[in-house]
Amino acid sequence: MAPNAHHVSAHPEAVRVQRGARTGQMIVVSIDSTRLGPALGGCRIRSYPTWQDGLADALRLSAAMTEKAALAGLAHGGGKTVVALDAGSAAEFTGPRRGELLADVADLVESFDGGYLTGPDVGSAPQDMIEIGRGTSRALCRPESAGGSGDSSGPTATGVIASIDAVREHVLGGRPLESLSFSLLGLGHVGALVGEHLAAAGARLVVTDVDTSRRALAERWGATWNEPDEALTADVDVVVPCAVGGFLTPETVPALRCRAIVGAANNQLDADSTADLLHARGICWAPDTVVSAGGIVSAVSREVHGASPDEADLLVRDIGRRLGEVLAAAASRDVPPLHEARRRVRELLDVSA
Ligand code: NAD
Repeated sequence: MAPNAHHVSAHPEAVRVQRGARTGQMIVVSIDSTRLGPALGGCRIRSYPTWQDGLADALRLSAAMTEKAALAGLAHGGGKTVVALDAGSAAEFTGPRRGELLADVADLVESFDGGYLTGPDVGSAPQDMIEIGRGTSRALCRPESAGGSGDSSGPTATGVIASIDAVREHVLGGRPLESLSFSLLGLGHVGALVGEHLAAAGARLVVTDVDTSRRALAERWGATWNEPDEALTADVDVVVPCAVGGFLTPETVPALRCRAIVGAANNQLDADSTADLLHARGICWAPDTVVSAGGIVSAVSREVHGASPDEADLLVRDIGRRLGEVLAAAASRDVPPLHEARRRVRELLDVSA
């Protein structure tokens, strides 16, 4: 991944690195921007070769969160927590010492005094937010049974589905789902929900996952199962990435056969310049920072602004309108949608180009 992929601001507003008082693990919080309001961004817990690698991840991920929040119309900035576990200590902290680790995270989150709100990310779950929530009130997405808005994959999938509708409207001549074909990469929490929707609507579906136990879903949907390395280049109208990022590169783009790419996977491009390659090939790439915002939109509207689940659902569906505006403006200027999204972020943050 290019170090500057998804960066708008070259410099974060604040970075705190603290060795956990209880566990000795290195914890990083990067606040990329609070220009529009308190920073939002989940808590990533995993081992890294060195804690400085975790710091680099936090800087990159917090910058992407600034874009995501701004493009979703939220009065929030971007941040991120990275807990860079010592090599080999992951088992200890998924097991008996998890509570201590989460208490260490809570200390650092609380030190921002409301300027930063955390939530689940890779390596953490809604259940963990209960523990973090014992030390700070700034932990979103606790389970619904504990008073939070719970797992965000449902609203994230709703945002992806609304985004697919925007792509149908703006790129595919308004053709209905049943006349279109899709290649869905990743049948996890988000992908399974998106696939269910597409299958129910009668779309032609090709699906893949590295976990072959997910093949049962393909059978249920009457979908064609592809190998992971074939699914990206399938001859379909739309590729829907819901697995990992970094797969759109100068090497893979020439082999694509789709008209559009729209999915939840974070950081899909290896570098910003790959958006130009996609545009030159006439492939519409919907920026993942717009498409995948359903989770934060739902959590913030429910937990910070007191919206009901139905009100939050409407706000999540509005992602389709927001993406449609980006696609239309990009098409009228004949630039990649990423350029238009970036232009909007700079305008919102009042940052000169
Ligand atoms: P998940 O872990 O539940 O599912 C990911 C699935 O992708 C798994 O089934 C995994 O086996 C599969 N996979 C991994 N590598 C693959 C590969 N190379 N080829 C094919 N399949 C592969 O994750 P999720 O919560 O469904 O999220 C999916 C993507 O969306 C991730 O990139 C995530 O960062 C992003 N995202 C998720 C949310 C959310 O609320 N869950 C919000 C924003 C963005």
